[in-house]
Amino acid sequence: MERYPNLKESDPEIYSLIQKESEYESTTLKMIASESYASYSVLEACGSMLTDKYAEGYPGSRYYEGNEFVDCVENLAIDRAKVLFGAEHVNVQPYSGSPANQAVYRALLKIGDKVMGMPVPAGGHLTHGWKVNFSGMDYVQIPYGPDPTTGHFDMNLIRETAKRERPRMIWVGATAYPHKIEYKDFAEIANEIDAYLVADISHINAIIIAGMHPDPVPCCDVVTSTSHKMLRGPRAGFILSKLEDRFQKKYHPDDKWGLAKRIDRAVFPGLQGGPHLHIIAGMAVAFKEAMSDDFKKYGVQIVRNAKSLAESLLGKGWKLAGNGTDTHLLILDFRDKDFTGKEAAAALAKSGIIANFNMVPGDHRSPFVTSGVRLGTPSLTAMGMKEVDMIKVANWIDRVCRNIKNIDDHAENIKNEIADFCKNFKIPGIRE
Ligand SMILES: *Cc1c(COP(=O)(O)O)cnc(C)c1O
Repeated sequence: MERYPNLKESDPEIYSLIQKESEYESTTLKMIASESYASYSVLEACGSMLTDKYAEGYPGSRYYEGNEFVDCVENLAIDRAKVLFGAEHVNVQPYSGSPANQAVYRALLKIGDKVMGMPVPAGGHLTHGWKVNFSGMDYVQIPYGPDPTTGHFDMNLIRETAKRERPRMIWVGATAYPHKIEYKDFAEIANEIDAYLVADISHINAIIIAGMHPDPVPCCDVVTSTSHKMLRGPRAGFILSKLEDRFQKKYHPDDKWGLAKRIDRAVFPGLQGGPHLHIIAGMAVAFKEAMSDDFKKYGVQIVRNAKSLAESLLGKGWKLAGNGTDTHLLILDFRDKDFTGKEAAAALAKSGIIANFNMVPGDHRSPFVTSGVRLGTPSLTAMGMKEVDMIKVANWIDRVCRNIKNIDDHAENIKNEIADFCKNFKIPGIRE
């Protein structure tokens, strides 16, 4: 029988672009805080022939025949997530983090309801009620965010806002908050005003699993997450929830489903069609990996690396938003410098350090240039880097930031040093 061609043979253009990206990522420091590296096993499941499968519905009640094996795949993903996070109910079908959050709105609220969430410039996500997103168009955002002077949440102010505005739901989760989030404090506030409390742990799931960050599952009605980012699964979303709706009588008196079933119905048929079973298979693989001791070590090391990096940068006189980190990310604060976050991020990228410009609490510059650069450690940690390596990384960052205005005289050298240094480490998903 004739062999089908592989990608290299059938589409050399795309094959070579993927090779180039692998080479690029293998020779630079990927410090995008929302990224990490999936294992080869995860990629293998995602690239499997499950891509072709249609199975609208949920395990045991599908609209198509022939689902014996994919039902097992989805059930495994669900059961593993339940164990991993200690959740009562899990939905693994959301196509990504944003659709997962959309399903939560659909399951809990009515159009026009008030939602407390952080605006994007304050470190929130688009789907937490930002104006250009469906969440800000269909619902009313009551904004909150870190205190501009301390960079930490001011829980008294947040309580005051909540009591005055009485939102129906509170989002707690961020894309650029370098400190621990105390879900218990938010739960107290939510209880005082009968609001649903929903945590979005997309950015921090692995450090929660590793015990380095408070766990939202016991005190939130719903928890959403991506399975990519530091969890190192496929690009997808999932939703953890309680089975029962504690406000069923008050807010959903005519509903016969209850919280868990309402979320499932919001995902399918409310928002989506067929589940992506190849991705759900990859998710199941990632959840299994995340139960291992190695994964916990990785989660612990992410935070140790971020702290080591923060310490080194502070030691060299750089300022950090909130003065440091106790998570996976830190934000360089250039408010008092004569260059912007955007210029700094571009200079870093030219020198082989890939990050993004980001607003700093109390920023006086526009969101299009900002005064900050967000740096994350998950990818470097997944490659095997430790605290001592962060000292070297801090040295390179320091050299770039001291030479922003004449970066062309330095970028090439720094870039070459970094490429050399990266040879000591390995990206998990790249096969030799
Ligand atoms: C990344 C992220 C999302 C959205 O995920 P996508 O998969 O990009 O849609 C939602 N919330 C938070 C806090 C995130 O960091």
